[in-house]
Amino acid sequence: MSIVCKFGGTSLASAESVRRVGEIVKADARRRFVVASAPGKKNKTDRKVTDLLIGCYANSDNEDAFNECFEGVKAAFRGVAALVPSFPIEDELYGLYNEIRYSFTSEDYVVSRGEYLSAKLLAAYLGYEFLDATRFIRFMDGELDLAATMEQAKSINAGGRYVIPGFYGVDEKGYVKTFSRGGSDITGSVVARVFGCELYENWTDVDGIYVADPRVISRAKKVEQVSYRELREMSYMGASVLHSETLLPLLDAPIPIHLKNTFEPEKSGTQIVKKRTRVEDEEVIACITGKNDHTCIQISKMMLDKQLGFVKKVTSVFEEYRINIAHTHSGLDNLCFFVERSEYKTIDFDGFLAVLKERVDADKIKGYEDLALLAVIGHNLSEKVGILATVFNALSKHDIGVRTVYQSPSECNIIIGIDDKELMKAIQIVYAELVG
Ligand code: ASP
Repeated sequence: MSIVCKFGGTSLASAESVRRVGEIVKADARRRFVVASAPGKKNKTDRKVTDLLIGCYANSDNEDAFNECFEGVKAAFRGVAALVPSFPIEDELYGLYNEIRYSFTSEDYVVSRGEYLSAKLLAAYLGYEFLDATRFIRFMDGELDLAATMEQAKSINAGGRYVIPGFYGVDEKGYVKTFSRGGSDITGSVVARVFGCELYENWTDVDGIYVADPRVISRAKKVEQVSYRELREMSYMGASVLHSETLLPLLDAPIPIHLKNTFEPEKSGTQIVKKRTRVEDEEVIACITGKNDHTCIQISKMMLDKQLGFVKKVTSVFEEYRINIAHTHSGLDNLCFFVERSEYKTIDFDGFLAVLKERVDADKIKGYEDLALLAVIGHNLSEKVGILATVFNALSKHDIGVRTVYQSPSECNIIIGIDDKELMKAIQIVYAELVG
């Protein structure tokens, strides 16, 4: 059996934290694959290496600003390298500087160097082999190409112990391509999948997943176990747990993920499994979260139920304008499409509504802005009697009006549209009622 352990930026930010990582990895011989993030923040005022590298790229025309960012990169790596005196850190940094300062390199390449060097250093410290992600992680049209990645991985005889840089792979042309921010989580899943690991341990600086964001509810309870489905809903609805695409490579396997705290490894963490085995009453609710800045576009047309292909016509206009639809609800003679405000911030929104109205021959189209979507996520929520009633009562007691509601028969979530400015208060109220 083998385990892949992914360590986040804070776990790799200093010599002291890397020493802890070493202890964790060595404590279990099955931990044969290690995925490394770039060094993160050592304290609140520090800057992440990834952000500094983004700064280097952005300032390629401004030597002083470039150098200031690069000084931060150097300081971060020198701090960690103190642990591995044999590692040629100065040569690496000198080479990196010349490469990203004087040769033509893409932003993705520059930014990927944080993970690259972090993984090389960690490999040297652990005495593991460095295995570059460019050897097997493949992208196609900007997205992970799992089939090609699995094919490439077949050529690697992975019988040893490896440290792999997170966050990037290569595109169709062989150029380095990064995932979106936080993407080392996806690398962990890819490694688990392609090398057939039985467990994916994701080590960070928190104890696991909380029922609500501890910054909103300080007494929030930690969850012992959540299902893939619940996790997907949570990440999508704004709870920052793992990268929202982390599960994709694992879905057919299905390999469990165990979230653990590098700084308190004895704590139980949170398990993420295909199907929950723990569903005691007090564990039904997995998460109460929400997202601001949504707009509901309501399209009304009489006799909508008789219009074959109407939805298709509507969605093709959204597609043309490249507006991603977050949710839809439908009524007898109207359809509602929820979109995040950021989706249309660069276009003339009123113009878009006018085109949409004309193209689908709607009676009326109206955009309702300033909506927040509050989400209650948990095991088989639609089968539990009284949850919606409890949530509505709690909200109405505090004068929070419900503007939309969505719950499908087989889902593990309830989504409630409320006024943008009420979201924090609503999360606190609903938490108090449903969890305590
Ligand atoms: N270093 C990258 C970031 O800060 C990727 C990661 O850590 O997952 O987003």
